[in-house]
Amino acid sequence: ARFTHNVHGQPIYAGEAAPARGHQKRAKAAIVVLARDSDCDGVLRSMEHMEARFNAKFGYPYVFLNNEPFGTDFVNRTLAATAARTLYGIIPPEHWGYPSYVDPTAAANARREMRRRGVLYGDRESYHHMCRYYSGFFHFHPLLREFDFYWRMEPDVHYYCDLDYDPFLYMQENSVKYGFVITIEELPATIPSLWATTQEFIDGHSSSIPAANLLDFVRAPNGDYNLCHFWSNFELGDLNFFRSKAYMSYFDYLDRTGGFFFERWGDAPVHSLAAAMFLNSTEVHFFQDIGYRHNSYKHCPAVQRNNCACDALEAVAFHSPSFGVCHARWEAFLAAQEAAQERA
Ligand code: GDP
Ligand code: MN
Repeated sequence: ARFTHNVHGQPIYAGEAAPARGHQKRAKAAIVVLARDSDCDGVLRSMEHMEARFNAKFGYPYVFLNNEPFGTDFVNRTLAATAARTLYGIIPPEHWGYPSYVDPTAAANARREMRRRGVLYGDRESYHHMCRYYSGFFHFHPLLREFDFYWRMEPDVHYYCDLDYDPFLYMQENSVKYGFVITIEELPATIPSLWATTQEFIDGHSSSIPAANLLDFVRAPNGDYNLCHFWSNFELGDLNFFRSKAYMSYFDYLDRTGGFFFERWGDAPVHSLAAAMFLNSTEVHFFQDIGYRHNSYKHCPAVQRNNCACDALEAVAFHSPSFGVCHARWEAFLAAQEAAQERA
């Protein structure tokens, strides 16, 4: 292993990735983890699953990002947990803080109000920065410049099944720009004005929105947002989609309103609404065969193979109807599209 240093003087492990076994071609892709030093134990538990189920075979690099410098403990323990390359980056301060058009005092007042109303994480300042970072900036981090695809990983998640193919190559070869495993309804109190703002954007940018979009997946019969979103703690994505002019014009439009601070807009509904506007049904892929759990929500493949250590009957789509409603809407949306194509 050779050590070099990044621009912030932090060590970068520049060792060779594990030799690819039975698998020569690789995508320009990385596993991306936003974390703090205090998340280290949880990150290691997630890495254990990721390595055992997928990455020991495929050897994709990990990119760890933090708004503060990582300590040597975090660096040493994570780099020892994989044979693949690991990179550590600091988030530029202009991507983690208040933009000129948001008054921090007004944001603090809004957080107090959200605490009073019990908005989940609404009172946590760093959570707002985190959601805005994943919405507008992570894809521009210098350490990700060399990559086309990412797989987002969080602390303390489980991957339940062996993955016997490369999902990045799958995306590359099939022009998939966004992949998910869980779709659920967003908490309405976190996004009071997100849908109205999105509609305004759509009205003003109708020429940049392709006709074959996914808006019917997220729109209720009465025209409101039905709250369905792809749960972004698991996310496979095409970085160039997020870097695109279309995506960034949407992000900028949202950001100008201050909604990431005055409300508690999550990156999950933002990514999802962008995918719904700009992508078509072949560009968004449900990775059915990836078993996954984050907190109490779980996806387990219906067909049990690949040594899945989960029970399909406990998976999100099989919980109470409200847990599975977005999965049902996704299936119904695809079926309706297919029927329309057959008629055409
Ligand atoms: P939840 O999944 O919505 O409950 O939120 P998490 O607490 O899991 O945070 C989402 C992701 O952002 C995880 O990967 C966290 O490690 C990371 N994260 C959250 N807040 C911060 C922060 O203030 N700094 C850094 N560096 N990472 C954060
Ligand atoms: Mn989490």
